[in-house]
Amino acid sequence: MTTLTSAPITAIETHDIRFPTSLELDGSDAMNPDPDYSAAYVVLRAGEHEGHGFAFTIGRGNDVQTAAIRALEPYVLGRTTDDLGALYREMTHDSQLRWLGPEKGVMHMAISAVVNALWDLRAKQEGKPLWLLLSELSPEEIVSLVDFRYLTDALTPDEALAILRAAEPSRSERAALLRERGYPAYSTSPGWLGYGDDKLRRLCKEACQDGFTQIKLKVGADLDDDVRRMRIAREACGDDVRIAIDANQRWDVDTAISWVRALAEFDPWWVEEPTSPDDVLGHAAIARGIAPLRVATGEHVQNRVVFKQLLQADALSYLQLDAARVGGVNENIAILLLAAKFGVPVCPHAGGVGLCELVQHLAMFDYVAVSGSMEDRVIEYVDHLHEHFVDPVVIDRGAYRAPLAPGFSSTMRPESIREYSYPDGPVWASS
Ligand SMILES: [Mg+2]
Repeated sequence: MTTLTSAPITAIETHDIRFPTSLELDGSDAMNPDPDYSAAYVVLRAGEHEGHGFAFTIGRGNDVQTAAIRALEPYVLGRTTDDLGALYREMTHDSQLRWLGPEKGVMHMAISAVVNALWDLRAKQEGKPLWLLLSELSPEEIVSLVDFRYLTDALTPDEALAILRAAEPSRSERAALLRERGYPAYSTSPGWLGYGDDKLRRLCKEACQDGFTQIKLKVGADLDDDVRRMRIAREACGDDVRIAIDANQRWDVDTAISWVRALAEFDPWWVEEPTSPDDVLGHAAIARGIAPLRVATGEHVQNRVVFKQLLQADALSYLQLDAARVGGVNENIAILLLAAKFGVPVCPHAGGVGLCELVQHLAMFDYVAVSGSMEDRVIEYVDHLHEHFVDPVVIDRGAYRAPLAPGFSSTMRPESIREYSYPDGPVWASS
C-alpha cells in the first residue's frame, strides 16, 4: 500500500436527516408509496479534513440506522485512512456485530456509511475525486481492498489481478475521454407511480429533450394502468429511446413473467427487481421466462455473495450495484470485479438522497480501471435533492460530468443538515 501519514480520526458525529418527499409522491413506486427520503449520516473528523458518508433509508427506521453507525465508533476513533482494506475487514468481521447480519441489513449498511466516509476522507486528504484516486491505485493495491472470502469459486485474487492488469495500460486514455464526454445517464424522474398521465407525458418529453436516451417507469401495481402508462411513454419518447420498467420487488415469479409479457409490445429495455432481491433462482426463472427481454437487479442485493450467485445462475443481464447498501467502496470493488469476470454490464442504482453523488465515482472507476467499457452502461439519474450537497452531480446532455472536487461528493450542506434533522430540525418541528 501507499504509505501515507494521514491524521488520525478524533471524532465521529451522526445525524438523522429526513426529507418530507412523501408530500409530492416523488419516489413513489409499487412497494413504497410514500417515502420520506432520509440519510443516516456520519461525519469523521481528522485534523483539517472531514469524511462524510451515509446510509440511505426512506424514513421510519432512520434512527435505528443511525444507532447502528454509532456502534462502529470504536473502529474508527484513533485510526487513519492508511489501510482501508484492513479496516473494512475488521469492521465486517466483528464477531459480535456480525451476528446482526451476517453482512446484510442495518449493520452492513452502517458499515457502508462508515467505509464510504473513510474513503471520502482519504480522497480529500489526497486532494482527488474518489474515482481518480481509485483509478490510480495499482492492481495489487485494488485487490488488497477486496474481501475474497466466499468468492473464490467464482473469482480468485489472481483472476482479479488479471482483469485489472489488462485495463491498466489504457487507463489514462479512458480517464481523458471521461473528462471530455462524461458517463451516460438515464432518467427515472418521469416514471414515479404516483404521477398522473399528463405529468408522465410531459416529463417523458422533457427527458428526451434533455438528451437522455433511456428513461424508466415504475410498474407493478395495476396491469391496465401499466399498459396505459407504457403506451403514453412510448408515444412521448418514440421508438429510439430505451424505456426500462421497475417493479420494486412486487411480483411472485409466475406473475412477473406474465406481467412482463403483457408489456412486451412496448419493448421494455429491462425489467428491474421483478421479485424478492434474495430469490436468486426466482430471478433466473424470470430471466428464462421473459427472454429475450432482460432482467436487471441489485439495489437491494445485500452483499457480494448474492451477486456472485445471480451471476453464476445467469439470473441478470444488468447489474445494479448500490453505493450505500453493501459494505461500501470495498465490497463494491469486489462486485465490479465479479461483473467484469462474468461480462455483465453494471448500470448502478441511484436516486434517493445522495446516491447519484456517490455512485458516479464507482461507475467511472469501473470504466477507467476495471471493465474498461461504457458500452451498454448507464448510471441512473433522478433530479431530486442534489441542492443539499456541496458538490452536487452535474448532468450535461444526458451524461454525468466527471467530478473534479476532492472527495466522494458525499458532503451535505451544513444548513441542510440543520434544517432537516429529525425530529428537531425546523422542517419537522413545525409540521
Ligand atoms: Mg429500482
